[in-house]
Amino acid sequence: MQLQEKIFNAGVVGAGGAGFPAHVKAKSKVEFVLANGAECEPLIHKDYELMLHFPKEIMRGLELLIESTKANKGYFGIKEKNTKAISAISSYLNRKTELTKLGDFYPSGDEFELVYEATKRLIPPAGIPLDIGCVVNNVETLYNIALADEEIPVTKKFICVAGAVKRPASFFVPVGTSLKDVIDFVGGSRLSEFGIFVGGVMMGHLTFDLNEVITKTTAGLIIVPKDHYLIKRKNQPEENWHRIGKSACDQCSYCTEFCPRYLLGYQVEPHKVMRSLGFTKTGSAVWNQMAELCCSCGLCTLYACPEDLYPKEACDKAKVEMHEAGIKFVQQKEVKVHPIKEGRRVPLSQLIMKLKLQDYDVEAPFNSEKFSVKKVRIPLQQHIGKPVKPIVKKGEMVEEGQIIGKIPDGELGANIHAPINGKVSEVTSESISIES
Ligand code: SF4
Ligand code: SF4
Repeated sequence: MQLQEKIFNAGVVGAGGAGFPAHVKAKSKVEFVLANGAECEPLIHKDYELMLHFPKEIMRGLELLIESTKANKGYFGIKEKNTKAISAISSYLNRKTELTKLGDFYPSGDEFELVYEATKRLIPPAGIPLDIGCVVNNVETLYNIALADEEIPVTKKFICVAGAVKRPASFFVPVGTSLKDVIDFVGGSRLSEFGIFVGGVMMGHLTFDLNEVITKTTAGLIIVPKDHYLIKRKNQPEENWHRIGKSACDQCSYCTEFCPRYLLGYQVEPHKVMRSLGFTKTGSAVWNQMAELCCSCGLCTLYACPEDLYPKEACDKAKVEMHEAGIKFVQQKEVKVHPIKEGRRVPLSQLIMKLKLQDYDVEAPFNSEKFSVKKVRIPLQQHIGKPVKPIVKKGEMVEEGQIIGKIPDGELGANIHAPINGKVSEVTSESISIES
């Protein structure tokens, strides 16, 4: 069986957050395969722990992809500060693989940044790495690809739980486990009232619902007090973001000056997207069309803006409106790295200070204890593409690793498998629940 078929059968998706089905990348033909071990979300250290404890599997995944894509070379993006992980990975390098050492900046894990750092190539505006002969995979995706080669499907997610919890840690957890069970595993929260950033404070979402579940793309949970600055910032109703922005933005353009995509040479200028809030909704002005080139890193909103406004959210809204209106942005200028780029990079430590998270900036070591759980709820859509169709019924007994949801023929997506042994207790249009 070919690698791409094994990856498809195992339901591997981009574990770094995007959830793109990994078999598609495995069947492309490229020059370079990049491993993304940059991990830049504040307080999340799960990729670091995975590189430290499973370098062999990660490098095996990289080699398998180099082989299947007929690539000339593999670049392994890793932060220079992570010396222990560098030495773990280095013992598996060969003549086709080399490290790309990165500074400790946010967002060094953005694939446009990583591809540029490794190859000095710039992805075309609104393009993908494939357009310039590259594929990029997060290190956990590579780990899952190595398992898929052994015909082991994705049933667990490696996550980091940090912030106001008793024992910050990184560990494997069955897909579909509730946030409550995960937080209990690390000794519970140190607080009675808290909010949870799922996937990170910069690019994740805020929830107070402990019944939400871990999916194949959840990088981690950051628990913060309910009255924390970040919760006040993120918990504003959407109309406030834009209403306040419309009146309070003084067009200082700091949001643009710090934007990593702008500094790479893309024609995204969030201060102009903010300007458009004042006098146009959608489409007629180029100012919000350029939002298509924004990667939603959140730096403009949470770091750059001196007025605490919401340029990232204005870009997000503009993207949706552009999409609905069928409008595409075409960059008029050549993509050329801004000469000041290196001087404008945002050190992670400085970002953590700005986010008022320095008290929680601690290690989250690997905990190898087995995580047992009595109930899981597995969403049918955990990836880019179509949701899976359940192939099990309520009352049916299933075994860990058994396929329970399939992607319809010819559609983009990834199969799902039972994360635990047990009985199917519910099948809905959204999820399948299993109780042990
Ligand atoms: S940084 Fe803030 S105030 Fe300045 S232009 Fe951007 S949104 Fe407006
Ligand atoms: S979120 Fe803001 S800083 Fe980040 S890419 Fe988009 S516009 Fe630029």
